[in-house]
Amino acid sequence: MTRALYVLIGDPVAHSRSPKIHARAFELLGIDAVYAPCLVTNVPAAFAGLRALGAAGFNVTVPHKEAAAKLCDRLDAAAERIRAVNCVDAVFTGHNTDVPGILRALNQEASAGGPDVVFGAGGSARAAAFALPGCSIVNRTRSRAEALARDLGARLAEPEVIREARLVVNCTTIGLHDESLPFDVAQLPKDAVVVDLVYRGATGDTALVRAARARGLRAIDGLAVLVHQAIASLEIWLGRNDLEELYPKLREAALA
Ligand code: NDP
Repeated sequence: MTRALYVLIGDPVAHSRSPKIHARAFELLGIDAVYAPCLVTNVPAAFAGLRALGAAGFNVTVPHKEAAAKLCDRLDAAAERIRAVNCVDAVFTGHNTDVPGILRALNQEASAGGPDVVFGAGGSARAAAFALPGCSIVNRTRSRAEALARDLGARLAEPEVIREARLVVNCTTIGLHDESLPFDVAQLPKDAVVVDLVYRGATGDTALVRAARARGLRAIDGLAVLVHQAIASLEIWLGRNDLEELYPKLREAALA
């Protein structure tokens, strides 16, 4: 039996926490496998190479998720609709595990009521809009928001929509490199839940997550989404549906 090969392709990949998460998962599960981050600029060549090497599965990250969707042999229903793939299995079916990543991170925390609001209209916002049917979209570039709304049945909205929101998901890159905020948490209702897909620094939290928690709101950080999407990827690759219990240990590994 040869060691199973799993890979992350993207540009950049050097600071990804996924290799630590997957190495710990394989250790906990007693699986002889390696998960290697690979800096890739030529996505078709990388796909051909991974086919030739018989990769057991791989993840795709920025900026290659849309290119990957075009190179898979088939797509699952979510990836087909979102037109972006972040997880490919051994038979080259493309999946989008950002969707279960977001939904599992939310778990029971979303309350019913006002609109779900997604900030952003890029790849991760498309996954969030699929996960939250009928959500409102706020984005800097209106044409991109219009395309997302059309493709995924979301509504266009202005930033003021957060005054009524029960759930707000940040899918912009705001806060990735500094302390800037995508919206003012003071405007949110007091029972609102905030999810930030961005994670940074030693703890993984951002100025948005800290500001939301300082106001007493529930805030879910990007590391929670990342670890849950990793678990969803593992479940696809290993044909299992019982790996959620690994979450605390994999989060610890991501922070180590
Ligand atoms: P994209 O590049 O596809 O989209 C970026 C979005 O951010 C666009 O909507 C863009 O708006 C908006 N944006 C960027 N700068 C500004 C600004 N200064 N003001 C207002 N809007 C701005 O990125 P992704 O969707 O792939 O990723 C977004 C973030 O989510 C990244 O930080 C990524 O690391 C993170 N992420 C985390 C995951 C996790 O598991 N935790 C999973 C996937 C992503 P415009 O259209 O106007 O350019």
